[in-house]
Amino acid sequence: MNKHKRLLINISSIGETGRHVCGSLPACTFEIKNIEYLECSKPIDYNLDITIVTHSVLIKGHAKTLIKRQCDRCLAANDCTIENSNVCHYVLITEGKVIDLTDEIREDILIVFPQRFICSESCLGLCKYCGQNLNINTCKCSEENDSGKIWDKLNELNL
Ligand SMILES: [Zn+2]
Ligand SMILES: [Zn+2]
Repeated sequence: MNKHKRLLINISSIGETGRHVCGSLPACTFEIKNIEYLECSKPIDYNLDITIVTHSVLIKGHAKTLIKRQCDRCLAANDCTIENSNVCHYVLITEGKVIDLTDEIREDILIVFPQRFICSESCLGLCKYCGQNLNINTCKCSEENDSGKIWDKLNELNL
């Protein structure tokens, strides 16, 4: 595991009425190497309510981050908010006085990573003929192909 900042909670600091904890974990917590179509370079923000329930610690709240992800349709990198508002953990108090929630929060975020991501519902994607990103620019391919001009051009060659 990494040696960077971790989310440590001292059990004695929780108190009878519980404790509210918010803050952020650095992007390196992801332990994901940035690759071409996925970039996790923003911290993970968390907002948690921590209470002691008999011999356990109950953690509820939400975690959120912003990643850059390639759009499945136009392949452009876009910001994508990743949010889990159902963070819920139940940690048994054993001998230690401090609990480490870093891995829990990391998993809460990883579990809600989108399988599919479209930058916008109206994303036009790429031209299937020339690969132009149609959100940025138009091309004449569909015009040419739809009207059968491509065949006219071949005919002009008199093969
Ligand atoms: Zn797109
Ligand atoms: Zn095109």
